Amino acid sequence: MSALMVMLGWMIWSLPDGLLHIWFLDVGQGDSILMETPLGEWIMVDGGPDDTVLARMGGIMPYYERRIKVMFLSHPHADHINGLLGVIGRYEVGSIVMSGVKYQYAGYDKFYRLAAERGVPIIFVDGSFDLRLGKIGFDLIYPERSLQGISFDNVNNSSVVFRLIYGVNRVFFSGDLEEVKEAELVRQAGATVHGRASLHLRADILKAGHHGSKTSNSEDFVRLISPAVVVISCGIDNKFRHPFAGTLERFQRLGAAVHRTDLEGDVALSLDGKK
Ligand SMILES: [Zn+2]
Repeated sequence: MSALMVMLGWMIWSLPDGLLHIWFLDVGQGDSILMETPLGEWIMVDGGPDDTVLARMGGIMPYYERRIKVMFLSHPHADHINGLLGVIGRYEVGSIVMSGVKYQYAGYDKFYRLAAERGVPIIFVDGSFDLRLGKIGFDLIYPERSLQGISFDNVNNSSVVFRLIYGVNRVFFSGDLEEVKEAELVRQAGATVHGRASLHLRADILKAGHHGSKTSNSEDFVRLISPAVVVISCGIDNKFRHPFAGTLERFQRLGAAVHRTDLEGDVALSLDGKK
């Protein structure tokens, strides 16, 4: 095939095609998710533990694309934030969405410093968080109030959790939220206000909590989400032994198809926006 044909194929492939493309990137032990909206805008959720994410992005995004429209940081643990440092340095980031939780970590300080240097606006989520990109909506599930300046015994429990909504499709991003907070969300989902459920958790696709750990993905929580597809982001032979065997069995009992970045590499999904 001639170089021109290769180029043409690439250009056709990279045109926005009405689909939402999602890649759960193989960044080793950590989380990093890249998305291309039907309008050709790019969204990221976390960046994994190191610069591996840059190579993964380079293999997916067109070489001329230097813009990330929205960058989500679930929480400031190294396996989520470190890779974002290189991304902020190399890409033009439109805005950062994060909790602003208080946490001692040099990488977190550097993250704030880089964002300020590069002039990236930060949106600190609270109960009034509302974001829409074209036909894609973001439904914030946790936290319901600002966590700015608040510290946690376990910063996993500050994870920004949301559902992405595109047509009838819902994709659940759980960060590393753990059982105690999952239980709070289950209670909220069971409560009603004026006869209507006050919190909806249902989703077609679930990014498993905390790399498939046994301290997340509790039975009642994943039952309410009831996903058809679960993606587990973890590193091969990781020292935490993620994912937990009992968690895998739980997803299988629910009838969900489980995909893992440690076994499959990048996990790619495309969604149409049909109503
Ligand atoms: Zn993590």
